[in-house]
Amino acid sequence: TNAHRIAVIPGDGIGKEVVPEGLRVLDAVGQRFGCAFHFDTFDFASCDYYLEHGQMMPDDWKAQIGGHDAIFFGAVGWPETVPDHVSLWGSLIQFRREFDQYVNLRPVRLMPGVPTPLANRAPGDIDFYVVRENTEGEYSSIGGRIFPGTDREVVVQETVMTRIGVDRVLRYAFDLAQRREKKHLTSATKSNGISITMPYWDERVEAMAPHYPDVRWDKYHIDILTAHFVQHPDWFDVVVASNLFGDILSDLGPACTGTIGIAPAGNINPERHFPSLFEPVHGSAPDIAGKFIANPVGQIWSAALMLDHLGEREAGAAVVRAIEEVLARSEYRTRDLGGTAGTTECGEAIADAVLSG
Ligand code: NAD
Ligand code: MN
Repeated sequence: TNAHRIAVIPGDGIGKEVVPEGLRVLDAVGQRFGCAFHFDTFDFASCDYYLEHGQMMPDDWKAQIGGHDAIFFGAVGWPETVPDHVSLWGSLIQFRREFDQYVNLRPVRLMPGVPTPLANRAPGDIDFYVVRENTEGEYSSIGGRIFPGTDREVVVQETVMTRIGVDRVLRYAFDLAQRREKKHLTSATKSNGISITMPYWDERVEAMAPHYPDVRWDKYHIDILTAHFVQHPDWFDVVVASNLFGDILSDLGPACTGTIGIAPAGNINPERHFPSLFEPVHGSAPDIAGKFIANPVGQIWSAALMLDHLGEREAGAAVVRAIEEVLARSEYRTRDLGGTAGTTECGEAIADAVLSG
């Protein structure tokens, strides 16, 4: 088999501490499952790079990483030296746009040993994916303001839905639902109030559904859907949503299952015309950076998502199992989970669990 070529971008702060743990686990995966990886590490998309070069990335960044099979990203941001909008728009947002990563995939799963704010929920009760449309919808720059600063001031911002853009994210979500045991898809809508774009979204779901006869599907308006996330998280399997609704749901989901330190995300271009990017949901955490106490699980779980994307499903599942096994044992939990383990101890334990699993 060919080696998977991975562009590794640690970025800033704890990104530089948790990315090595992700690589440690991928090394273990290589030994256990015989898949080969070729890693190229890049120092750009970091505030250190900015301080040295006056920009977040070199002009030819796209050529440098565009040919890789995936990007394994840590976190970017160091507000003490570079404003957050500069660091974020100069790096991560460029990747998402230029590489047409139109799916934002966030697993929501209650792990053993992780405290949940939801009462009476145990591991196994919550296990679903949020699939967020990542390139169009409510996040358009079409609009404007007239009569600024007067009583007649008017502001307008358009929602843009294209048939290609809606259908491709729905197809991804239906495909994912079809691969899962429950084969259940939930669509987030608001077609009672948003009377043009959201009925269109619903229409495209209805047009897609007959192609997936074995997938059971339903839809909820976004307002009641957020309530169901909290009260009935066990109802969900794959939840697909427009850019704005998906943004809200994909923060609410991980919040329902405990610490931000374990949540992973994939920014995915399913056609593989461009590399997809896998990163923890959390940022660079300047408040704990340099101490090696950060939780590496979000980064390691992102590696599992990356393995799935690369077609190494068995290896991806093994990494998730290893995470569950290690979190269940209190001695390897980091401080955000009430434990005392350091970043490296936790990462080593997960790598060991992959090797012996
Ligand atoms: P943050 O996620 O970095 O930190 C929020 C809080 O959670 C902090 O108290 C932090 O210590 C804690 N935390 C985060 N990850 C943790 C982990 N793995 N283990 C234990 N505790 C963890 O968010 P923030 O403080 O709002 O932002 C800090 C910087 O990160 C900013 O520059 C921001 O722009 C950037 N940021 C980047 C990304 C990204 O790269 N995708 C995402 C969010 C924020
Ligand atoms: Mn968000």
